[in-house]
Amino acid sequence: MKTEILKIDSINPDMYKIYVASATIKKKGTVIFPTETVYGLGADAFSSEACKKIFIAKKRAMDNPLIVHIASLKDLELVASNVSSTIIDKLKKLWPGPLTVILKKNSKIPDTVSGGLSTVAVRMPAHPVALALIEDSNTPIAAPSANLSTKPSIVTGIDAISEMYGRVDVIIDSSHTFFGLESTIINLTGEIPAIVRPGIFTYEELKPYFDNIVISNTARGINEETIAIAPGMKYRHYAPDKSLYMVKNDSLYEAIFNSELSNELIAVCSTEMSKKIKGRKILLGSERNLYDVALHLFDSLRVIDELHGRLAIIQSFNEGGIGLAIMNRIRKASSGNVIESFEQFKKIIEASDF
Ligand code: AMP
Ligand code: MG
Repeated sequence: MKTEILKIDSINPDMYKIYVASATIKKKGTVIFPTETVYGLGADAFSSEACKKIFIAKKRAMDNPLIVHIASLKDLELVASNVSSTIIDKLKKLWPGPLTVILKKNSKIPDTVSGGLSTVAVRMPAHPVALALIEDSNTPIAAPSANLSTKPSIVTGIDAISEMYGRVDVIIDSSHTFFGLESTIINLTGEIPAIVRPGIFTYEELKPYFDNIVISNTARGINEETIAIAPGMKYRHYAPDKSLYMVKNDSLYEAIFNSELSNELIAVCSTEMSKKIKGRKILLGSERNLYDVALHLFDSLRVIDELHGRLAIIQSFNEGGIGLAIMNRIRKASSGNVIESFEQFKKIIEASDF
């Protein structure tokens, strides 16, 4: 497939280039575009034929539903049904932003988008390029993250091009996204609002709007297989090709990287931790500003596969605020591999056929 690359400024999008991209959406093609969270791979949300191309481009399982992106609140009724005025009032305050809500779906949304569920996930992104594209396309845009399935999400135009060139019609390159981690998904179809995927909008920030909101076990990364409300939430995610392990606490992390066994390892850690350890390191950001860690997490997971070193070992972070989303992604990226003791670490090293 021939891919057209459009470099578009994040803040002041060139409307002629937006027009080229929206013409592709109208022709039932696929467009990779930036949002404030991560890059999305979009198509006309009302066209099953167009949305099937997303699954093919990403090699995504067909039962994993897509998020539908809108550019104005009036479009909500086109994609969802029976949305209460209370919810609409809250969304007026919370959107545009990194918050996705699960609602009853409108019958016009094809099963390809909803994975056959009776619900639909909807978001209004806060990114000038995304909003201009949706508006100019004159249709809601269904878009999952732009990465190949199982790979870390894409947060730069360069990574979008190197991973997806030839697989989609258009790639918009608007440099780095603003936050680097995905939106928070809340399910509003049950009796109690529930965070089903933690993201940029934190539990603490949502609490004033949804008084009784809970964090589901899915969001914490517990028992995912059995209780995921959408089939997609159970799939392998964000994984580098190299084995990645998370370490339970900081003192164990220091012990591992100050031991003689650290030669073959890659450390993925905070700037504070990097000062205390030896070896190859990928620095995420400061523990005092976890938004910086979030911003660089996916980039760093991608870098792991480009470095020498057999095994990557990532630090764990405090789960308050944005830390919940960071730890959710780290747990998934490491497929739940946690090192809990130095003995266990030694066994992992012995077992790896270096
Ligand atoms: P991504 O594939 O990275 O864009 O993430 C989209 C996420 O939204 C996936 O984890 C989907 O499973 C989830 N999702 C989309 N639609 C629904 C829905 N109707 N109910 C629950 N989760 C959904
Ligand atoms: Mg994804």
